[in-house]
Amino acid sequence: MNQNKRIFLSPPHMGCEELNLIQEAFKSNWIAPLGPHVDAFEKEMAEYVGTNGALAVNSGTSALHLALKVLEVGHGDIVFCSTFTFVASANPILYQGAIPVFIDSEIETWNMSPSALERAFIHFDNLGKLPKAVIVVNLFGQSANMLSILKICEQYRVPVIEDAAESLGATFHKKASGTFGKFGVFSFNGNKIITASGGGMVVSDDLDAMKKMRFWATQSRDPALHYQHSEIGFNYRLSNVLAAIGRGQLQVLNERIADRRNIFQRYYSALSPCEGIEFMPEPANSYSTRWLTALTVNPLITGVSPIQIIEALAENNIESRPVWKPMHLQPLFKSCMYFPHFPDESISNQLFHQGLCLPSGSNLSEEDQDRVIECVITIMNGKRTY
Ligand SMILES: *Cc1c(COP(=O)(O)O)cnc(C)c1O
Repeated sequence: MNQNKRIFLSPPHMGCEELNLIQEAFKSNWIAPLGPHVDAFEKEMAEYVGTNGALAVNSGTSALHLALKVLEVGHGDIVFCSTFTFVASANPILYQGAIPVFIDSEIETWNMSPSALERAFIHFDNLGKLPKAVIVVNLFGQSANMLSILKICEQYRVPVIEDAAESLGATFHKKASGTFGKFGVFSFNGNKIITASGGGMVVSDDLDAMKKMRFWATQSRDPALHYQHSEIGFNYRLSNVLAAIGRGQLQVLNERIADRRNIFQRYYSALSPCEGIEFMPEPANSYSTRWLTALTVNPLITGVSPIQIIEALAENNIESRPVWKPMHLQPLFKSCMYFPHFPDESISNQLFHQGLCLPSGSNLSEEDQDRVIECVITIMNGKRTY
C-alpha cells in the first residue's frame, strides 16, 4: 500500500509554531492585511539575511515588480535577465513595458554566465543603450557567481536585482544569497523551501527605496485623512495571517536546509556512480540549500531521456519534473535577444534537454526516497544501451 503513496516534488512542511502564531492572529483579530506579524516577519527576515530593511508582499513576482519600478525601469528600457529561470523572473519586465534581453548560464553554477553578461554589455554599450537593471536568478537553492557578475555590472553602473526566490538560506562567500544586489527578492510560495502558502519579500539596505515600494504596494495612499492618490498604486501587501505562517517557518529554515542537503547527499551516493548522470555542481565558496536536487541525464550514455525517467516515476506515483525551460525558448519571448555563454554554444539549452529535478521535500522519508532511487535505477538498467 505504501508503494502507492504519492511522493511530491517539494510539498509544504510545517513546523510546530505556525499554528500557534495563526491562532494568535485570530485571537487578536488581526485578519486584515498588515498587522503585527507582518512587521515582525519583516524584521526577522532582515535579521536572518543581514539587510537594513525588508518589505513583505503577497508574492515574489510583486516583489520583483516593485524593485523594477523603484529603479525607474519603464517603457522601452532594456533589462538583462537570466534565461534559465521560471517565468516569474521575467514577467515583471513586461509589466513595466520594458524589453528583456536574456543571458545564458555557465556550467559551474548553472546560473548567469559572467562571460555572456559581459558580451551583452559590450553589445548594448556600443549601441549607447545600457540596460536599466540586471535580474540575476539563483536557481534550485544556489547563488550565481555574484562576485564576477557584480564586478561587470559595477563597471557599467547598472543596478542588480537578485531573484533569490529559490535560494533563501544559501550563501556565497559566507554572505546571504539575495543580499548581493541592490535589491533581493524572496518567495514563500507553496513549493519553496519555506512557505507562507503565498507571499514574497524584498530586502535592501536602501531604506528610501524601501519606503517608496511600501507606499506603492499599499495603493499609494497620500498622507491625507480622505482617500487621496497622486500616483499609480498596487495592492501587493502580505496578509497578517500569512505572515504568521512565514514567521513560524523562518524558525525552522536552517533545519529545512540541512534536510534538503541530506536528501541531495543520499541521491548523490546512490546515483552518481551511474555513468551519464551529473549532479548540479556546488562550487567552492558556495553553500547551496539544495532546494531541489537537480541533475542531468545524458541519453547517449544512459539510454534513457529525462522525460522517460519522469514518466517512469509518474507511473509509480512519484512527482518529478524537467528543469525550467529557458526564457529565450518560450513563445512569449520569441522576439527577445539572447546572449549564449559561448557565441555559438548555449549552456541552458543543454541543461534544459538533459535536466531533471527529483522529489526533494524536507519531509521526504528515507523509505520514500529509496523508492525514488530504486525506480530511477530500474529504468536505467532496463534501457541501458550497452
Ligand atoms: C517561485 C519563483 C518566483 C515567483 O515567486 P511567487 O511568489 O510565486 O510569485 C520568482 N522567481 C523564481 C526563480 C521562482 O522560482
